[in-house]
Amino acid sequence: MIGVLALQGDYSKHIEILQMLNFKTMEIRYPKELSLIEGLVIPGGESTTISDLMARSNFHSPIKTFAKKKPILGTCAGLIMMSKNLSDDRIKSLDILDISVDRNAYGRQIDSFIDQIEVSLNGKQNNVLAPFIRAPKINKVGKNVKILSYYKNEPVVVKQGHHLGLAFHPELVNTTLFHKYIFSEQFEISHAT
Ligand code: GLN
Repeated sequence: MIGVLALQGDYSKHIEILQMLNFKTMEIRYPKELSLIEGLVIPGGESTTISDLMARSNFHSPIKTFAKKKPILGTCAGLIMMSKNLSDDRIKSLDILDISVDRNAYGRQIDSFIDQIEVSLNGKQNNVLAPFIRAPKINKVGKNVKILSYYKNEPVVVKQGHHLGLAFHPELVNTTLFHKYIFSEQFEISHAT
């Protein structure tokens, strides 16, 4: 079973994508529910709000413990939450990906855009549509972080260990590729459990 952190943001779209892949799914609202799942999605939304709500429910330390053994996929605000450093001290990030990010680095809502990116997964090149919505820029990556895709010279897909971070929103264009890659192909989570 894969959980989606359901405090704020577009978590229901991620549930749909996981269901398209035939995973069992669960909306996660309390830290104790992490014990029921084998993988977690931290969705996009508003990272200041997600950070506040996470702090209120004491989610930080249980998610960090979860991350030691189990995979996490973060998209946009989810990627911001997974980062080590960021340019906004209102947000308490999780330090799961050794990256630094700049929030809203492509501009305001009106500057959001959708474009084609190329990403190489398991040695295979894929062309996917990537909606960037008030997206963060990854401005620094640590030596254990693999960059799987760039958009205009900026890293937009990063992997460290069994975790994947995306600066954009694949779920909004029904792209199942990244969820499949991290949960089925890298981690081999069974559909039956
Ligand atoms: N700009 C948002 C933030 O900083 C992220 C936007 C998104 O998740 N689409 O939290």
